[in-house]
Amino acid sequence: MPVHVLDHPLAAHIITHLRDKTTKPATFRTLAYQISLLLAIEATQRIETELKPIETPLEPMQSRVLAHQPLIVVPILRAGLGMVQPFTDIFPDVSVGYVGLERDHETAKPRSYYCKLPPLAGRHVFLVDPMLATGGSAVQALSIVKEHGATDATLVCIVAAPEGAVEVEKHHPGTVIHTAALDRELNARKYILPGLGDFGDRLYGT
Ligand code: URA
Repeated sequence: MPVHVLDHPLAAHIITHLRDKTTKPATFRTLAYQISLLLAIEATQRIETELKPIETPLEPMQSRVLAHQPLIVVPILRAGLGMVQPFTDIFPDVSVGYVGLERDHETAKPRSYYCKLPPLAGRHVFLVDPMLATGGSAVQALSIVKEHGATDATLVCIVAAPEGAVEVEKHHPGTVIHTAALDRELNARKYILPGLGDFGDRLYGT
């Protein structure tokens, strides 16, 4: 199963503070930005570059720049919004689409309430959702972006449960998942253990 776990001391440090229940929403938002920035860099390691002729102060040379192929970042609302800004900050060409799925707290099943996507064919699509729990939202969001033409979709999350990764692989085999942490399991209410609680609530202080 193609799950890539971010392996960096800074990522471990940030994750610890995200998990800590005493971390306040303002700090939580900063940490979410920082870990998403590391994930954005990691997840885009293989995007194309091309040679561009330039002149340094000393001599001409051919040097690499990003190939002109706008990336698409698609947050799964609402918690995914907390992971978008690092992508728009570091990539010159990025379009943002939105998929609104909310988790029914009783059934833990995703319910679609919004979808606004740019053309996705031939683009690298990065679906961002901080918590890959049951995998239900990720599976549905992957189906939605594929229905809209995506052929290359990568899932980027902050904490993943093994159950979620298995579910994604079952419905969308071969999907690459980047996560900052692969946790132990889900509890009976489908929260990730040890996890960090409800990401959206902690991000927005609700
Ligand atoms: N969504 C969250 O915000 N947290 C979990 O643990 C699982 C799903």
